[in-house]
Amino acid sequence: SRLRQFLYSWEKSAFRGTISEKDNSINEKSETKDKAAHKLAGDAVEIRLEHVGFTYPGSTKPTIKDINVTLRQGERIALVGLNGAGKSTLVNLIPRLYDVTEGSVTIDGHDIRNITMNELRDELGFVPQKGVLFSGTIASNLRYGREDATDEEIREAAEIAQASDFIEEKSAKYDSPIAQGGSNVSGGQKQRLSIARAIAKNPIFDDSFSALDLKTDAALRKALAEKVSDSTVIIVAQRISTVLHAEQILVMDEGRIVGRGTHEELLANCEVYRQIAKSQM
Ligand code: ADP
Repeated sequence: SRLRQFLYSWEKSAFRGTISEKDNSINEKSETKDKAAHKLAGDAVEIRLEHVGFTYPGSTKPTIKDINVTLRQGERIALVGLNGAGKSTLVNLIPRLYDVTEGSVTIDGHDIRNITMNELRDELGFVPQKGVLFSGTIASNLRYGREDATDEEIREAAEIAQASDFIEEKSAKYDSPIAQGGSNVSGGQKQRLSIARAIAKNPIFDDSFSALDLKTDAALRKALAEKVSDSTVIIVAQRISTVLHAEQILVMDEGRIVGRGTHEELLANCEVYRQIAKSQM
C-alpha cells in the first residue's frame, strides 16, 4: 500500500537545471547499488537525517552542514530561511536528486542509498516539478501530472489539499486562469494547488476512489483526510505567512538549522526567524 505517502511541495522551483538530467544521472549511478537493495517492509514511518552535510560537485565548501532532523509519519514540517539558505538542497537529498556527502538519510533505519530508486520515490510520493504552476487554468494545473484525472478526482484532490475553498470563491472556479509561475495566486494558495496536483497525480488515490463510492460525501472525505493525515509533508517556504500554522518550523541559515519550533516559539527565541518575520511585515 502506498497510502502513506510523503508529499513534498515547493513554494518555488526546487530545481536548477533540468530534472530529467538529474534524475537520469542518479538512476544510472544507482543501478549497481540497486542490485543489493533493501526492500522496505511496508509504509515508511520515519525519515531521519543524521549529521547530514552536502557539498555540490565542484564546490569547495559545503552548502549543508550537520543537519539532524527526524520526520515522523503524519508530521507537517516547514523549512524557512532566506534565499540561498540551503532549503531546496536539503529537501532534494531525500529523493536522492543528490546523495549526501556527509552523514546519512535513513528511512525506518535503512540508508536511502541502499533502497531502490523506484521504491524510494514510491515511498516519497515524489513529484518532480520544475515550476510550481503553469499558465492555464486551475484545472489544467491540477491535471498536469495526470491528464485523464476526472473532474471529481480533481475536486477531491483540491479538497484534501484544502484548496477548494479559495477555488470555489473564484467566479470561474476550476476554470480560473493561472498566470505563468502562478503569479496571480498567493504563496499559500500556490502551495495548496501543488499539493492538490501531487494528490491528483497519485494513482493511489485512484485506487481508493474506485474502491469507494465516488458519490459518498462526508465519509469519503473523512477517509481521505485520514489518509492524507498519514502523510508527512515538508513545505519549503520563503514566506512566513505560509508556515504560520505548521506544527514544526525549521529555520535554515547558511546551510544549518538555527531554530526549531512553532511560529510563536521562534518569534520568541530565534533571531534569524525574527528578522525574516520583521522583513515581511
Ligand atoms: P534555498 O532553497 O534556501 O534558496 P538553495 O538550496 O537553493 O537555497 O541554495 C543554497 C546554496 O547552494 C546557494 O548558495 C546556491 O547558490 C547553491 N547551489 C544551489 N544549487 C547548486 C548547484 N546545482 N551547484 C552549485 N551550487 C548550488
